[in-house]
Amino acid sequence: MKAAKFEYSQPAELAGALQLLADLDAPGPIKVMGGSQSMGPMLNLRLTRPNKVVDVSRLAELRTVQAKGGTIRIGAAVTHAEIEDGVHAVLRGSMLQYVAGGIAYRAVRNRGTIAGSLAHADPAADWVLTLSALAADIELQSAGGKRTVPMDAFMLGAYTTQLREGEIIAAVTVPQLDAGARWGYYKFCRKTGEFAEASCAAVFDPQRKRARIMLGALDGAPQPLPGLARLVATTGQVPASDVIAQALAQVGDDPVKQQMQLAAVTRCLQQALMTPEAMIDQKEYAA
Ligand SMILES: Cc1cc2nc3c(=O)[nH]c(=O)nc-3n(C[C@H](O)[C@H](O)[C@H](O)COP(=O)(O)OP(=O)(O)OC[C@H]3O[C@@H](n4cnc5c(N)ncnc54)[C@H](O)[C@@H]3O)c2cc1C
Repeated sequence: MKAAKFEYSQPAELAGALQLLADLDAPGPIKVMGGSQSMGPMLNLRLTRPNKVVDVSRLAELRTVQAKGGTIRIGAAVTHAEIEDGVHAVLRGSMLQYVAGGIAYRAVRNRGTIAGSLAHADPAADWVLTLSALAADIELQSAGGKRTVPMDAFMLGAYTTQLREGEIIAAVTVPQLDAGARWGYYKFCRKTGEFAEASCAAVFDPQRKRARIMLGALDGAPQPLPGLARLVATTGQVPASDVIAQALAQVGDDPVKQQMQLAAVTRCLQQALMTPEAMIDQKEYAA
């Protein structure tokens, strides 16, 4: 099947794109397009039938990455591949660079954007989980102005977000981790390049004795595991399997899924706590 007919525009400036999206008299639905990696198939299957598509993937205003005041602001249209390749020096060696390299296949990463992934809000997506663990903020913009929403509140459920009509994601702001802070990321996929069946992201700051552990690939948004996080923050140790399993029992009751989650959480924490079992040498990916 092929997409139904739609009008395509690629404005040269963000203001122009926002103006097009604000057109309340347009004859039918208008949709923003990023890298088209999720939207392309949805258009072809006619799961979405916009009258007009506004492509924001080439807008210079959405393609910058800047470090400022202890945060990194990543433009909406920065691609997974650009983060993977360390095109922007400030992201080299980061958790984001590590995660980007494991998203889908290179062809998808070449075009897929960070904002497209967040707006699509697939519960198994990598950015949704990683940016939750990093307590990112999502910058939303429309012709009427800007607002900022914490990642925890941005995703309302599977494929559902806070985005309103005429609004786009303009950027994502991630707090920079303190020196000495560590992270872990682990996902189970049937084969390399596929969406996760169970996934976990963790950030641990031994100096501040703080930890944040998020579980992904659920029915909806990622969920925090606060009890485990407190334990990790105070002991600096990977909790025993039965303790992790107990925490996971609060999240769901499918035994197969729980087994994958148990392994994902354990391996993620081994990586974050740099135990000898850790599969990744974090010297390469330190921040
Ligand atoms: C074969 C395959 C395997 C994949 N595997 C993975 C995987 O393992 N992990 C993973 O995380 N992802 C995976 N993906 C998804 C991939 O990461 C996509 O890049 C991502 O979901 C969508 O990004 P995009 O820029 O292509 O957005 P698009 O497809 O262009 O848009 C997706 C949605 O986001 C909206 N949108 C786009 N940009 C904006 C914006 N700036 N503001 C507001 N709304 C916007 C669109 O309207 C649309 O609703 C896979 C995709 C494919 C095709």
